Amino acid sequence: MITTDILQQLAKTHGTPLFVIDHEELLCNYEMFKKNLPRVQAYYAVKANPDPAIVKTLFNAGASFDVSSIAEFESVYENIKDLPEQEQHDWIWNNIIYANPIKAEETLQVLDKYQPLLTFDNSEEVVKMSQHAPNSRVVLRLRVSNAGAMVELSSKFGAAHEEALDLIFEAINAGLTVAGLSFHVGSQTTNFENYMQAINLAALIFKEVKARGYDQMNLLDIGGGFPAPYDESVKPFSELAKRINTELDRLISPDIKIIAEPGRFIAATAATAVSKIIGKAVRHGKLCYYIDDGVYHTFSGVIFDHCQYHFDAFKTGPTQICTVFGPTCDGLDVISMTEELPSNLERGDLLSSKNIGAYSAATSTYFNGFPPAKIIHVNR
Ligand SMILES: *Cc1c(COP(=O)(O)O)cnc(C)c1O
Repeated sequence: MITTDILQQLAKTHGTPLFVIDHEELLCNYEMFKKNLPRVQAYYAVKANPDPAIVKTLFNAGASFDVSSIAEFESVYENIKDLPEQEQHDWIWNNIIYANPIKAEETLQVLDKYQPLLTFDNSEEVVKMSQHAPNSRVVLRLRVSNAGAMVELSSKFGAAHEEALDLIFEAINAGLTVAGLSFHVGSQTTNFENYMQAINLAALIFKEVKARGYDQMNLLDIGGGFPAPYDESVKPFSELAKRINTELDRLISPDIKIIAEPGRFIAATAATAVSKIIGKAVRHGKLCYYIDDGVYHTFSGVIFDHCQYHFDAFKTGPTQICTVFGPTCDGLDVISMTEELPSNLERGDLLSSKNIGAYSAATSTYFNGFPPAKIIHVNR
């Protein structure tokens, strides 16, 4: 648990802006995931926060990984590179899924050597994989409802139910091993029905494939989307997990390996941003604070993740609805126009934003000459 005192001390020592990662919280989230979904092997989605120290902490805790680029693959590989070749191969086989359905030819050529699971969702990809990564085990990504998710993915990825069988047999006929099915119900999914529908669809397709005489599908990947507790409206994870477990036990045979790709759920609550007020103005009658971190940096989730972060001030006073701006010269650099903050904050005062571990530092830039916030690891 990172207290206000610790944050203040860190800001004093390192300056601001800071991005403070709590490794104890990371482990706690990973353990909570495993405990609530005992049949499910957790593959951390590196995209949510690719910091190498996060990957290492989770690797040491026994996690598996979902990667979607060669760089992400390498950040995981880094942890096994000293193992003998056969052990590396076995570990990758059991613990990495390359879950980007669209892969460049060059990417496939690199991956072919290591043989992680690969996802796909269209014919073109079958041709590409069979030419450039012919030894692959592949997983068909299904299109499922993303209704009610904060970030929707179904318009970009996933094969429709009607196409699924044809694609599976196209891949088999092209010499690939079809290991199973995957889906993603949309990130920060608070509509639990999405999972139920998706598991039902997968069960139906497993049955259809078996009926057509192929019996090598033994993996179900239930994706990411598990919601982080950003506010009280998010129902407890245990409730979602209970419903998923019931549906898995009812519909998915015990000899099928079940995996998931939680990103946000593991990373979101594990980081806190600390920023400093660098300017203060009243514009159109509204109090505006300018801080040293913004939407091109730690708060990039405001733009890319449809996420709204809140601030805690380190001192109290009468509050009002304020605007909080980032430090760059761009008018887009607005973190919030409706943040309730004390009106007596001054230049040099600190603000913190919790639950900012996912899709934040991951998409930070150097725009306008402002570097990303300094990353601090605690409880490592
Ligand atoms: C982004 C992504 C994830 C992680 O999703 P979360 O909502 O952060 O859990 C998992 N799998 C795939 C394929 C993704 O693209």
